[in-house]
Amino acid sequence: MMKTFARTILGAIFLLGTVACGTSYELPEPESVHRQQAAQMFAKGRASPPVRELSNAAAERRFHRVAARVKPVAEKYCEQLTTHRVDVFCEGDLDIERELEVNNAFLVQLQHPVTKETFSFVRLTLPLLKSTANDDEVAFIISHEYGHLIGRHTRKKENQAFIGAMMAVPFGAVDLGAHAGSLAFTKEFELEADALGVRIAQAAGYDPIKGAQNLARPIPGVDLEEGPSFIETHPLDVDRLATILAAAEQIKAGIVPEKKNLF
Ligand SMILES: [Zn+2]
Repeated sequence: MMKTFARTILGAIFLLGTVACGTSYELPEPESVHRQQAAQMFAKGRASPPVRELSNAAAERRFHRVAARVKPVAEKYCEQLTTHRVDVFCEGDLDIERELEVNNAFLVQLQHPVTKETFSFVRLTLPLLKSTANDDEVAFIISHEYGHLIGRHTRKKENQAFIGAMMAVPFGAVDLGAHAGSLAFTKEFELEADALGVRIAQAAGYDPIKGAQNLARPIPGVDLEEGPSFIETHPLDVDRLATILAAAEQIKAGIVPEKKNLF
C-alpha cells in the first residue's frame, strides 16, 4: 500500500512539472561574480567522485539528526513569512520514504475539501539519503522542499486539478510511464525553493552552499521503473547555484524576501 501511495505521489509530481506560473517572492538576482563562482562550483561538483553509499542505519541517523534541526526552523520561518495569509499551513509531516527504490525527495500537499486545511508531506527516499555525502546536503534538500511549501507551488491556481486528482484517488495507482514525457522542470519554482531553502538551512546551522554544490555530482540510483531521480527532477545547474549564492549574500546584507503582487 505504501508503495502505491509513493508511486501516486511521484506520478503527481510529474503533473506539477507541467505547470508554469509566477513565484510568490522576488527571486534574488545573481550578479556576474555569482555566475562565475557558480560555474566553478558546478564544475567542482560534477568532478566530485561518487560517495560511498551509507548503510540504511547511517542514512536513518543522518536524516533524523538533520530533520530535528531543520523542521522547526522551516516551520517557524514559514509562519513568519506568511502571517498575512490564513490559507498557508506551515506544519509538515517530514519523514523518510522507505519503500520507493528511487533516489528522490518531494513535497505533496492535500487539501481538506470542507475546511480547506492543507496537509503537507515532505519525503526523502532512503536511496537518496544513502547517497548523500554530508549533513549539509540533507539539510539543503529538506529546506528546498519547505521552500516549495512556503512558495505555495502546489497550490497555485493552475494546480487545483492536481489537488483534486490527489483527493479523488489518494491511494490509487498512477502510471508513471504515462507522465514521464510530460516531465518538465519548472525552473522558476526551483529557483524560489532554492532561495528560500538557503535561508532555512543556514538558520538551522548548516552550510547551504556546501550542501547544494555537492548535489551537482552525478548521483547513481536511477530506476526508470520507479521514477526519476532527484537530480532529474531538480537538475542543478549554474543558474541555480548562482541564485543560491545571491540568496546567501542577501542574508548577509539583511535583505528579506520581497513579496510579489500575486502572493
Ligand atoms: Zn524542487
